Amino acid sequence: MPSDIRVRIAPSPTGPLHIGTARTALFNYLFARHVGGTFLLRLEDTDVARSTTAFEKDILDGLHWLGITWDEGPGVAGVEEAGPYAPYRQMQRLDTYAEAAARLLLADRAYPCYCTPEELDADRRAQEAAKEAPRYVGRCAALTPAQRAAREAQGRRSVTRFRVRPGVVGWNDLVRDRVEIDTSNLGGDFVIVRADGTPLYHFTVVVDDAAMAISHVIRGEDHVSNTPKHILLFEALGYAVPVFGHLPLILNPDGTKMSKRKSQTAVADYIAQGFVREALVNYFAFLGWSPGTEEEVFSLAELEQRFELEKVQKGGARFDRERLEWLNGQWIRRLDDDDLIGRLLPFLEAAHVAGQIDRLPPEGELRALLPIVRERLPTLATIVDLVGYLWVDELDVDPALLRPRRWDAATTLAGLAAAREAIAAHDAVTWEADELEPPLRALAEARGWRAGDLFMAIRVATTGRTATPPLFDTLVALGRERTLARLDAAIVRQGAVVRG
Ligand code: GLU
Repeated sequence: MPSDIRVRIAPSPTGPLHIGTARTALFNYLFARHVGGTFLLRLEDTDVARSTTAFEKDILDGLHWLGITWDEGPGVAGVEEAGPYAPYRQMQRLDTYAEAAARLLLADRAYPCYCTPEELDADRRAQEAAKEAPRYVGRCAALTPAQRAAREAQGRRSVTRFRVRPGVVGWNDLVRDRVEIDTSNLGGDFVIVRADGTPLYHFTVVVDDAAMAISHVIRGEDHVSNTPKHILLFEALGYAVPVFGHLPLILNPDGTKMSKRKSQTAVADYIAQGFVREALVNYFAFLGWSPGTEEEVFSLAELEQRFELEKVQKGGARFDRERLEWLNGQWIRRLDDDDLIGRLLPFLEAAHVAGQIDRLPPEGELRALLPIVRERLPTLATIVDLVGYLWVDELDVDPALLRPRRWDAATTLAGLAAAREAIAAHDAVTWEADELEPPLRALAEARGWRAGDLFMAIRVATTGRTATPPLFDTLVALGRERTLARLDAAIVRQGAVVRG
């Protein structure tokens, strides 16, 4: 069902793709898909000093990686730019802003302001001293044409300021219900065009949302204080005011505001740690939305079906990494073998390059491991921790770990030696988990050891770790030769400990 609903994500390429931007993009995307509307991406690149093509690429690539697609904008399905309202980069739309600014000047809804930085600075200091909120004092608000001409003649440059009307600006927010703000709190008439002619955010965002027929502006709560300025501009320009919805802030687990310094906010960092797109999308959807049921695992397609803006909450959304890891594990379990192998390989390659493992397992070896690792991966990167010892030449074993808590050094040595003998009795044919286990259980029983202690000593000796996938599956993966060699090495080391 086609609809007139048009929404957008409007990132500024002044930093890498932030989880807040990804979440806002996702909510706009889901809303558009749910109602059969249009979702576009616009690059707000007028902060020329801080915008880079590298950040632009990170943002577009990151959104594509998540599976979020847009109908109009740069990078639509690999096309440089597509859509009826092109260009979708603000620096290529300067004419549009210049025309709109000229219109506001002509109608006296905006005026040239000649105040110098020194004058503005003095105003600010006086306001501070008087404990007043900073605001433009209106020095240039009522200049006569002659006074303006005189300033021009002095060579003074002007910015363009928008006249803020007195009164209240209000809107029915899709998330926050009725919001009303007295325009006396907006800091006075604000600048929409700098002296060098470059337009500012509040202005370009409104001109473009109108030009691109945006029906719903859905963005983060940090924009609530900007919205009254935008509404005033829509009105002054004679445009229909879109519907606004402000999504709750994403908070740290302790309820504090997220910051780049304190929190991991770049999507690329989550990708690098082995979160899969399905889980990130699923988790981002829950940052402010819930289906109102106990269901937790949703694919992007399911979210498109189920997502409703009415179910977006007002309160801040705490970022819960444990829940994200749990969801990630759920999604890793759902990947088919080829897909999972393809996603694990880059992490193993990186570990190989970093020298954490000495060889890269061939694909067949990795495939055989999937049944024992698949359910034990909170992230793809944990594969290295979980089974990386299978691919190292020299295993580093902490002697303190080798001795089970209930055993002394001599028992540990005896246990390892007896286990080695029992294990060596198997040939390649009986090198199977269900063949390896019974004789070792029998051995423990005969010696009066707890099987768990014996297994722990074997586990640490062969893997260097106290936690692994099931022991006998792990030994099968390690192979007979390497299992015996590692047991031998452990016996030698433990012998030295016993002899003191
Ligand atoms: N470029 C703005 C930002 O990145 C867009 C805000 C908006 O959606 O209006 O925050």
